[in-house]
Amino acid sequence: MRLFVTGGAGFIGSAFVRSLLSAPDATEHPHITVFDKLTYCGVAANLAPIAAHPGYTFVRGDICDANTIDDVIAGHDAVVHFAAESHVDRSIKGARPFVVTNVVGTQVLLNAAMRHRIGRFLHVSTDEVYGSIATGSWTEDSPLAPNSPYAASKAGSDLLALAYHRTHGMDVVVTRCSNNYGPYQFPEKVIPLFTTHLLEGKRVPLYGDGRNARDWLHVSDHCRGIELVLRGGRAGEVYHIGGGTELTNAELTGLLLEATGTGWEMVDRVPDRKGHDLRYSLDITKIAEELGYTPQVGFAQGLADTVAWYRNNRHWWEPLKAKAVPA
Ligand code: NAD
Repeated sequence: MRLFVTGGAGFIGSAFVRSLLSAPDATEHPHITVFDKLTYCGVAANLAPIAAHPGYTFVRGDICDANTIDDVIAGHDAVVHFAAESHVDRSIKGARPFVVTNVVGTQVLLNAAMRHRIGRFLHVSTDEVYGSIATGSWTEDSPLAPNSPYAASKAGSDLLALAYHRTHGMDVVVTRCSNNYGPYQFPEKVIPLFTTHLLEGKRVPLYGDGRNARDWLHVSDHCRGIELVLRGGRAGEVYHIGGGTELTNAELTGLLLEATGTGWEMVDRVPDRKGHDLRYSLDITKIAEELGYTPQVGFAQGLADTVAWYRNNRHWWEPLKAKAVPA
């Protein structure tokens, strides 16, 4: 299978590429083209472990640039589309890059995939497209009601991808996942931000009353779910990929304090994020029943391994923080 992976230098995209190219049956996936603009959060070093693999090609390019995509997309069997502006707080400060990359860029990429008759287009979406849910869990049929500019731009791209299936008959599948964590996550997101701050002896900012609840998904489980949908998902369908561990931000903070040997005196309560969704929760029955997915990484082990990775890889995150994360 020849895969065209956008955003493959980011957190989840690079985990996906590393896992496919270093898997024991990697000969089944001998060709992966990573197409990435290398924005502030695209890190070439994330792909260093597989850079010498004979089936790997890297192309620096923007998903909004149809000409560059045209030059390199032909001959691939599938697009796996991760590229996005992905940080909610940045979308609150300025929404335009989110609309340009997430909505326009996805439309440009869909058109290119259609022109070049790429076999399958897997669009990586998010649970944030649904808004907030007080109790119970969303199914794939729940209405979209995004609240942040990030979530609204992801909802736009998610619906565009499905529209290309309905309108043009393209083989599109959409995955909506919960909050990912694991190694190589850019240190502006909550788990790496808090972990690295605490390792540096800095205080961490906890939004509002800390009651906001999220489902946590280890990035390796997410990548396995994506591969299952890529291979076996039905065209035109949406699949949830969840982790099965729901925690409030205060509970998560407590676990990170414990894992770094620090205490609540290191926590600053800060005003809540504007429009902060209270709770996300995905029902994963569909992917479990159709494709046999269950999360395999227990949260306690996954978090301990993640904190250990940040402890042992300061050379990776220190320069990124210095360049792109306000002190
Ligand atoms: P990330 O911010 O770590 O990486 C994004 C990647 O996209 C970077 O390599 C960046 O250089 C690239 N990129 C950005 N704009 C581009 C453009 N115009 N052209 C080409 N490349 C561009 O993001 P992530 O956390 O790895 O998320 C990947 C995908 O998963 C995104 O679509 C995101 O919305 C979705 N998602 C993430 C999470 C999460 O918890 N991280 C949860 C749900 C969904």
